[in-house]
Amino acid sequence: MYMKYMNMDTFKEKTSTVDTVIIPIGMIEAHGHHCPLGTDILIPNKFCEIIEDKIGDKVIIAPEINYGHSWALSVYPGTINVSTEAFTNYVKEVALGFVANGFKNIILLNGHGGNISALRPISEAIADNNSVAVVFNWWVDFRDEILKITEGQGHAGEDETSAVLAIDESIVDMSKATSNEIKIKGSIYFKDFGKIIYKDALSGDATKASKEKGEEIYKSVSKRIIEIISDVQKGEYC
Ligand SMILES: [Zn+2]
Repeated sequence: MYMKYMNMDTFKEKTSTVDTVIIPIGMIEAHGHHCPLGTDILIPNKFCEIIEDKIGDKVIIAPEINYGHSWALSVYPGTINVSTEAFTNYVKEVALGFVANGFKNIILLNGHGGNISALRPISEAIADNNSVAVVFNWWVDFRDEILKITEGQGHAGEDETSAVLAIDESIVDMSKATSNEIKIKGSIYFKDFGKIIYKDALSGDATKASKEKGEEIYKSVSKRIIEIISDVQKGEYC
């Protein structure tokens, strides 16, 4: 059930039986020359569509958070970078707003790597307020499943590009798909980090992406997400 289409009365009625909200979280950011700037929110939204289809009566889907933190990719056109501090405070207050509305389980369904570190203090604040936070970073948490489908992963790489192709092939320009196999040696940060490490706003090999691989990713990853949500709803965390 999508919250944005409910009114105050239907929301109150639904939340008397539904204790779980999913907040899709993404970013507007350069994704190679071939993928749309909204890639990181389009994919969580697609997972939500599948979840709505399968267990829509057991969850409420909140409006998405479109803007996040991207230090590395802010050197490219179309990246709208919010500081980690501002993002953390904003999303924390949004999440605690759902806690105040009585939700037991707050699911943070994230599509963007630069948001990951902020989601930890946000989750801790949710837990401190007696609700349960569940964070999904789909390409990290389900890497094993994804690597049975694609040869590699990456920012606008094979897995992410495939996931966008499966949403709508017309929003990806595969004639501009490239590859970037540069790998950093560790947690090293320097001035031109984004330009060098994410050359052309990309990592991995987008040329190997396909719609079919994307469809497989949605099938396999959404199955796992739904299993975990169902377990959390039963209070089974381990
Ligand atoms: Zn991305």
